[in-house]
Amino acid sequence: MRTLFIYPEFPKTFWSYEKILELVDRKVLLPPLGMVTVAALLPQTWEMKLVDRNVREVRDDEWDWAELVVISGMIVQKADMAAQIAKAKGRGLPVAVGGPFASSTPDAPELQLADFKVLDEGEITLPQFVEAIERGEKEGRFSANGDKPDVTATPIPRFDLLELDAYDSMSVQFSRGCPFQCEFCDIIVLYGRKPRTKTPQQLIAELQYLYDLGWRRSIFLVDDNFIGNKRNAKLLLPALKQWQIEHGYPFSFATEASVDLASDDELMLMMAECRFDSVFLGIETPDEASLSIAGKHQNTRSSLEESVDRITSYGIRVMAGFIIGFDGEKTGAGDRIVTFVSRTGIPAAMMGMLQALPNTGLWHRLEKEGRLIQEKTDAKGVNQTNLLNFVPTRPIRDIANEYVDAFCRLYEPNAYIDRVTHYYTKVGKPRWQQYVKRAALGKATLPTWTDIRALGIVIWRQGFVRDTRFRFWKSLFTIARKNPDNFEQFVVTLAHNEHFQEYRGVVTREIQDQLASLPPDPPTAPRQADRELQPA
Ligand code: SF4
Repeated sequence: MRTLFIYPEFPKTFWSYEKILELVDRKVLLPPLGMVTVAALLPQTWEMKLVDRNVREVRDDEWDWAELVVISGMIVQKADMAAQIAKAKGRGLPVAVGGPFASSTPDAPELQLADFKVLDEGEITLPQFVEAIERGEKEGRFSANGDKPDVTATPIPRFDLLELDAYDSMSVQFSRGCPFQCEFCDIIVLYGRKPRTKTPQQLIAELQYLYDLGWRRSIFLVDDNFIGNKRNAKLLLPALKQWQIEHGYPFSFATEASVDLASDDELMLMMAECRFDSVFLGIETPDEASLSIAGKHQNTRSSLEESVDRITSYGIRVMAGFIIGFDGEKTGAGDRIVTFVSRTGIPAAMMGMLQALPNTGLWHRLEKEGRLIQEKTDAKGVNQTNLLNFVPTRPIRDIANEYVDAFCRLYEPNAYIDRVTHYYTKVGKPRWQQYVKRAALGKATLPTWTDIRALGIVIWRQGFVRDTRFRFWKSLFTIARKNPDNFEQFVVTLAHNEHFQEYRGVVTREIQDQLASLPPDPPTAPRQADRELQPA
């Protein structure tokens, strides 16, 4: 079976980083790990090609070659998903869809033309799909009916199908699921609250495969919560460290984790020694009442500022997500986020307005309270340019204006430089470097011509052309003096300003356009719809 995998295009988001990727000659931040995992789960006698539409268009010869088209994506990709399904059907090709969007809303109009809906986790439903194809069936819907697969049997993803040069970072996955129960989170709906992990040997085999394919840049462990099962994470890390030492630390790692990482020194040290350079934390808000109402009690157990500082002191840089629009939220939530981010110094602080995602606890509650303003099939997903999709407990214009104001202040170019400089005075020494021989370290960090050109452009723009020039040079000298071990990463973080500068404009424009189309006095939820605000 000649199978063509198509990964739909993403709209521009906080994480799309086009301006940065352009500078270093890459197209996309991360590859479609789900698709290459699906490819590995299908019969290996099938011929396969993969086109990531974020990298390039599907060519005519690829459409002509295909006998089956497989399309998978998230809610935010649904517009292009529909367009690609229509194209394939226009050519008379059978189409199978899967992934988070199809699994959460299989009856969405965008998926109507698809012949096969392969829902939930592929380890369970792909064998059913393959059997149906082998029986000659022309359509079908396959669901796991609530079962969750054991991922220790998941094969190594078909990384060889990717155009590796197009990606800035590679993805691997160690675990699925998260033990917490944040009300707005769809991860626990899709993957469950009992984290399932691969074995250390499995993950090492994936890294070895990437290494053998020539990959030498960073790797994102796209786990929902890497420390969801701390015991198993601690079994993996010694093996990972050993592999890194034996191979001269070819990879740096990033991942997502819950804030309780900060309370486990052993775990932070192990991660730092494996070369985990950064971690994404869902901080959401410094407002304790909002965290409690969102069921994010784990974020209320210790000081969030101290948690960020502790992780940072291990040389693991913190990226964080923030949300505005929780029930019962008091005026000034945006200001409080800006203050928190400025005090901690977190460089990449992603903000968005709260979205009720289909099938989550939040979705069900708001549905019961009659506050949803869109059908399940209309959900747009989490994007920094989406207004709330429900009736909030304070005026939506206030929330949106606070959001835009906070976003613009966080990424005002001079404020960004100040914040990043403040942050890098606190970033701990990279602990992994003690395991690399000095000569090897020097060799591994030799810059390429592309890096030098990118650096030149950033220096020219921020250090000469813009009004950031004074701060830029002062900051460079400050970090060169105070934290030379992290100087290179500091410059990379400053370069991210190129993206944020542009994205500030995107957020402002798109939110203001949506506000202009609202009625003069949109409803707010009555106070009785608020939950009682109780600290955890
Ligand atoms: S900690 Fe993160 S992944 Fe876990 S339930 Fe909360 S939002 Fe979801």
